[in-house]
Amino acid sequence: MRVQCYLAALLSIATFALAVPAIDSAVKPNAGLRLIKTSATDQGTWVTEDDKISNYAAKKIAFVDITDIKDPETLARLSSPSADIAPVAAIAYPTTLSHQTEANALIAKTNTNGPQSWLMTLTNFYNRYYRSTYGTQASTWLFNTVKSLTASNPSITVTQFPHSFSQPSIIARIPGTSSNLIIVGGHFDSTGGSSTARGPGADDNGSGVVTILEALRVLSDAKYAPKNTLEFHFYAGEEGGLLGSADVYAQYKSARKNVLAFVNQDMTGYSPSGKISVYNDYVDTSLTAYVRRIVSGYIGSSTSDSCGYACGDHASANANGFPAAYVCDEPDQTSSPYIHSSRDYALDTRAG
Ligand SMILES: [Zn+2]
Repeated sequence: MRVQCYLAALLSIATFALAVPAIDSAVKPNAGLRLIKTSATDQGTWVTEDDKISNYAAKKIAFVDITDIKDPETLARLSSPSADIAPVAAIAYPTTLSHQTEANALIAKTNTNGPQSWLMTLTNFYNRYYRSTYGTQASTWLFNTVKSLTASNPSITVTQFPHSFSQPSIIARIPGTSSNLIIVGGHFDSTGGSSTARGPGADDNGSGVVTILEALRVLSDAKYAPKNTLEFHFYAGEEGGLLGSADVYAQYKSARKNVLAFVNQDMTGYSPSGKISVYNDYVDTSLTAYVRRIVSGYIGSSTSDSCGYACGDHASANANGFPAAYVCDEPDQTSSPYIHSSRDYALDTRAG
């Protein structure tokens, strides 16, 4: 299990404490249909909820569900090529590493016992599809697990973030002396390739969830008191078109929250190369350079790739003007062939 590499990166991050055509979403041909976009230039297609999974997610065609996105700036950014999306505010990230002693002491407290056990529970849900009762049950289990893991530090708050569907996202917050936010997150929903299929979602993205949980456990037990406020996000409905993170970052934008960094942790468990992959598109260039610096300082060389439009929750943060980075277990070519299927049940590269 590569989880400890990702934990090292996460915990070291924690120490730092357009003019485009409008999308015609006014005409909705039938109630219940959803408007999705598969590229910056795609004007949008109305599809059923089931089509989103069977005709897109199962075929690994990434999309963003824009039905409920109303903010014109966000829609404009979703219609811009990655290279044309400017950061809203330039943030000066550190150019050298610091706090290594604190970070290494925290990293030494990590182990894989919790992650293995939590992953077993997550994959034992029939699926974690965001519109299924299993998906709701998985959200409730995760909420209770996050609360119990953080009980060692009463200053940590854990809340459910409701959506229009019955699977809330979950947010844990370690207050800092500043309200500026550093966010680590990943989605906990899964899909097996149809709305009714078995979807264990081990690599995608049980692995990212348990990585984040272990980082949160260690920081909670250490009573870690950051300068910046740290948040740990577990997003619902990512496989339905980035739904959970779209709602969260739309709310953060309208509340004018000052997000200094968001690192998306989507797939950390299947890695033939054994190297962390830091992705280059629909992310903030400066933050991504800083993440690379952290990986190189704590773990070693990284790989890189681009994953295209709407490939994960970092795209929601990016669309709402927040600086995001994306770390993954592999470049696209060598990533798990089992995701979005009933076979995403093991993290060993020989799975299947
Ligand atoms: Zn995923």
